[in-house]
Amino acid sequence: MDCPKCGEDISESYEDDDPSVGITGGWYCEACDYSIAEWEVDREPMPDDVPISFLGSRESKGTPLPELGTQPGQPGWEEFCRIARSWGYD
Ligand SMILES: [Zn+2]
Repeated sequence: MDCPKCGEDISESYEDDDPSVGITGGWYCEACDYSIAEWEVDREPMPDDVPISFLGSRESKGTPLPELGTQPGQPGWEEFCRIARSWGYD
């Protein structure tokens, strides 16, 4: 993680969320007196994001997965079952 202002490596300054004292997790650059909240940083897309977005409502902006079927007999049903099993469902 680099400071967006001075480019300094501020990975070490990372702090976790601490809701009990109202602290939002993120990084802080002492030189610039600049803090970056964790949620402000675009995450790298993770392979796990696909099933998670699939879990969301169909109206959400999650990536649609038309190749998956949600009913037996539909194209993609086998793939749907495979992913479902990976979540711990049978
Ligand atoms: Zn800085």
